[in-house]
Amino acid sequence: AADVAMYHAKAAGRNDVHFFSPDMKLTTEAKNKLETSMRNAIDNNEMFLVFQPRICLKTGKIVGAEALLRWRHPEQGVLLPAAFIGEAEENGLIVPLGEWVIDSICAILQRLSALGFRQLALSMNVSFRELNQKNYIDLIGKKLNDFHLSPELFELEVKEACLLRNPQLTRDVFSQIKRMGIKLTIDEFGAGMSSLSSLQTLTINHLKIPKSFIESISDQNTDGVMAKTMIGIGHNMNINVIAEGVETRSQLNFLKANDCDEMQGNYFSEPLSLSAFEQMLGAPQG
Ligand code: C2E
Ligand code: MG
Ligand code: MG
Repeated sequence: AADVAMYHAKAAGRNDVHFFSPDMKLTTEAKNKLETSMRNAIDNNEMFLVFQPRICLKTGKIVGAEALLRWRHPEQGVLLPAAFIGEAEENGLIVPLGEWVIDSICAILQRLSALGFRQLALSMNVSFRELNQKNYIDLIGKKLNDFHLSPELFELEVKEACLLRNPQLTRDVFSQIKRMGIKLTIDEFGAGMSSLSSLQTLTINHLKIPKSFIESISDQNTDGVMAKTMIGIGHNMNINVIAEGVETRSQLNFLKANDCDEMQGNYFSEPLSLSAFEQMLGAPQG
């Protein structure tokens, strides 16, 4: 986005580049306070995940869910990621937080499998700082092993903007992901229009069309053209395409008519608690 401020992180001798949107700027005092409470949040069981079902547009069946992080803050109530993920990236707490997410997802995949849902995939979002961790993919591999899970049910969502920040790192990590057998989704695809050439050389399983393109899609406007084009790019490269933020019947009809593979959004379901998600799954689907 045009209004994004950029600076070079001097901390810990890292030469990577961090992006912040100006409306996220906090005073030093507010930052410190947030950091202190975030530090305790995992141990205090204040973090939890909600699950937004992902639906196959051909069969209408739930094929998996995206895990989204929430923080039940002792004073401020439930916080959305926008209120704390940026800070967690900056102060490094995203790393233990992300490990907690990996553990939780593994435990839930194991539980779902025991309940008979052996085909459901769960995806988690990873930020640049997490991907940049040494042996990050090995860590996931180890956890999958500990929980006796098959890797193809575990998916990572990486934002397109992340690809740009360190293309060589991305390439290395993506090849480890492929070797490990876990799945890879490019989130917010098209928001930066940067990765067309990267798509040719990276092994990607899903592309997600961002909500901003889905909002006003119709046969008469450019968002519709964009969505169709992204579906075409994905299909020509054997990549599944997911539409995100689907809120209306007419958006759904457009996506079906244009052969989109999967959808996620409040039209079908908002992000749910685990028990509500399990209830929605109903009887095991084989
Ligand atoms: P994202 O991965 O693109 O997630 C999609 C966001 O769109 C979610 O917001 C979801 O609740 C929202 N959404 C889905 N369908 C609809 C809809 O039909 N209408 C509307 N208005 N919104 C919809 P959320 O949960 O606030 O997450 C925001 C972002 O925070 C995520 O974007 C992701 O980048 C990040 N995030 C979430 N969980 C984690 C996590 O565990 N780790 C990291 N590193 N980032 C996370
Ligand atoms: Mg996502
Ligand atoms: Mg997204």
